Amino acid sequence: MTSRVLASLLTAATITACTPAPPERQFLDDALSALGGRGRVEAVRTLTIEGEGVNYNLGQDLQPEAATQTFAITDYRRVIDVANSRQRVEQTRTPRFAYFQGPQPQRQVQALDGAVAFNVNAQGQAARLGALSERDRHHDFYHHPLTLLRAALHPQAAVANVRAVGTARQADITTPAGPVLTLSIDAAGVPLSISSKAYHPNLGDVIVTTQFGTMQDVGGLRLPARFTGKVDEFTTWEITATRQAADEDVGDLAAPATLAAAPAPPAPTVTAEPIGPGLWFMAGQSHHSVLVEFSDHLMLIEAPQSEARTLAVIARAKETVPNKPLTQLVISHHHFDHTAGLRAAIAEGMRVITHAGNREWVERMANRPHTLQPDTLAKNASHLAVEAVEGEREIRDAAMAMTLFHVAGNPHSDTMLMAYFPRHRVLVEVDAYSPGGAYHPYAPNLLENIAKRTLAVDRIVPLHGGIVPFADLVTAASAPAQR
Ligand SMILES: [Zn+2]
Repeated sequence: MTSRVLASLLTAATITACTPAPPERQFLDDALSALGGRGRVEAVRTLTIEGEGVNYNLGQDLQPEAATQTFAITDYRRVIDVANSRQRVEQTRTPRFAYFQGPQPQRQVQALDGAVAFNVNAQGQAARLGALSERDRHHDFYHHPLTLLRAALHPQAAVANVRAVGTARQADITTPAGPVLTLSIDAAGVPLSISSKAYHPNLGDVIVTTQFGTMQDVGGLRLPARFTGKVDEFTTWEITATRQAADEDVGDLAAPATLAAAPAPPAPTVTAEPIGPGLWFMAGQSHHSVLVEFSDHLMLIEAPQSEARTLAVIARAKETVPNKPLTQLVISHHHFDHTAGLRAAIAEGMRVITHAGNREWVERMANRPHTLQPDTLAKNASHLAVEAVEGEREIRDAAMAMTLFHVAGNPHSDTMLMAYFPRHRVLVEVDAYSPGGAYHPYAPNLLENIAKRTLAVDRIVPLHGGIVPFADLVTAASAPAQR
């Protein structure tokens, strides 16, 4: 609404007392009133929410769309210093599934001071988040009706685009600090949800939403006690408050004065270590790939970690074998950390080979919009070709022989492939066994899969950790700590 329209409406209001308020004003008034009134919302200094709930395992579950693996959340405590835009969330996260880091509970501390986001580790050391995560957490601060409406009352805030969506009303609120959030309220003004746009390296443009339920009295306010977090249609967390309080002393939530900006991720380093004829270990940092040379083309196993890493691996592959086209990409499994370079490989024109259970998901990832931060594929649209493998697939020519096998029944992923090279007596696998780790919950299943196929394996080439003799896998699979 322009200021002229607003001015004429205000003039009209002085003439006719029953002229309705402009929709933006009405929206804000209704939302404030449902929360306990403008006066109480303006006066509140702090909010404490204690509770328990669940975190889901988006992008790391057994199947691409599954939500079967959860972490129990206990001792949850979110404290908000409303006036200073500071927040601290502490929680204990305990896996309810065979987690690669082990079954023990993990304490997490996630904090925000203005636009500065940081985590605090078990030793009490604070570390600032990278730019993308920092922005997400800054948005997250406003995913509560109290913080958002408080921001909406600021003279530099704007409320716009009031519209009806079914029986709900929505408006876009631009906070003085920058983030734009969409608030949904019901006919009485009770908050239903808050959402905002975010960029996810795998999913591209996403809508992050927090839904609210079970309103309760909290020191003169009416606030939600049920929170459900979503990324697009995927539920990512749920919290139910067991105790809430307004205006308690929450301590000093300021970021440590010495907190430096998070360093940019290190430039990818990629080695090309020969494993045997026509086979190279494209290692470096935490996530590796393997380059395979056929008579007339090259294949890459895995496009992990980030677009930057995958582009560096592709460049190194072309340097390593300059005269053959790189035309195929094998994806071991769908997990986000192992497919963050999928779109970059598709943009390179590579054909994707993956387990049949990942086919639809690969197609979805290739077609999702990435407009907020256009990646290589968004800038270079490319035709997608996917080959699905069910139980096994032999790929062989005069120069190379390999077979892809489904790693059946593995508790890490239902849709995982391993690659066997019979002439090299080498098995390439990922996550089923990561040498150097303390805990190997999936190694017994990997060993079963190797035995079932009677594969003759001398060396394991893992895409985390270094190449090891087969005996190391046998030891890991039989160690009492692995379960
Ligand atoms: Zn994984």
